[in-house]
Amino acid sequence: MSADETATPAAQLPSDATPRPVPTVEGLAPGTVRDWLNWAESELVSTSDSARADAEVLLARLIGSERSQLRLRHEDAIEAATVLRYASTIERRKLGEPVAYITTRQGFWTLELAVDTAVLIPRPDTETLVEWAISLLAEQAAVGRAMPADPDGRGPPYVLDLGTGSGAIALAIASERPDVSVLATDVSEAALDVARENARLNGIGDVEFGCSSWFEGLSQTPSPGGRGETIALFDLIVSNPPYIAEGDAHLASLRYEPRLALTSGADGLDAIREIVRDAPAHLKADGWLLLEHGYDQGPAVRALLQAAGFLNIESRNDFGGNERCSGGRKP
Ligand code: GLN
Repeated sequence: MSADETATPAAQLPSDATPRPVPTVEGLAPGTVRDWLNWAESELVSTSDSARADAEVLLARLIGSERSQLRLRHEDAIEAATVLRYASTIERRKLGEPVAYITTRQGFWTLELAVDTAVLIPRPDTETLVEWAISLLAEQAAVGRAMPADPDGRGPPYVLDLGTGSGAIALAIASERPDVSVLATDVSEAALDVARENARLNGIGDVEFGCSSWFEGLSQTPSPGGRGETIALFDLIVSNPPYIAEGDAHLASLRYEPRLALTSGADGLDAIREIVRDAPAHLKADGWLLLEHGYDQGPAVRALLQAAGFLNIESRNDFGGNERCSGGRKP
């Protein structure tokens, strides 16, 4: 290590963990990308278990680089104005704000999504639901399933995403299956604005967005595929609804995210109960309902599906090996 490398800005800053005002540029020595990454990592290490990654993602976004390219720029000097902005983003991160809200971006599936505090930050675990949905659509196509509810007996499969938030699930499905017509709903107009923006950013056309509380406002929403009429019956309904119990200790770490998207009654299952109860009336025969849920809610959700008459009920695990989604087929 050269003498230069050891003289990082971190060495000149107090090391206590109490939040300090954003440092002024006079208080910070000029430094390279490497210096500032090291400084930021040391600032974040006590509050984030992904300190280095956070430091890299936040700096890459500020200097307009890909995170994977940062290494090539380690010796570049950073301008004073950028240093100030970086120090302020690191301060936000130290206070617990998620990286995605600071960068306003989150990768999901193959997409890059805009996010703000009107929407839940899409989680990798939700890709389990997307994978399942895509494989079901492929199976339905393979058996050339008739579409009994379509007046002409043909038409694309119709998919409904309830509580779409950033649009993550709906847009991931639409990106894989341009032939499928997707309707994505949310009760929050602010969330729908984000979802529409994400459709535009990712160049995905065939998704309609509408305001609805679960199935309540569905008859007023636009039809998927722009066919003019309201689609009454879907081939597949998917949802990542709120499922955390009110008062769950876990909520403290999710305080930046919208409560509306997180909690649902005393046991977290209110939204899921409503969706399972009403879904059969909105599914074609042989249509599927797939739901994301909490790591310990699999048995409860399977029981709800069974009570509502669903068949082929099963659950799928997330990347951490927890039951994360359950679903069933309408007879
Ligand atoms: N999976 C999120 C979490 O527990 C919650 C998402 C949700 O409630 N739908 O962090």
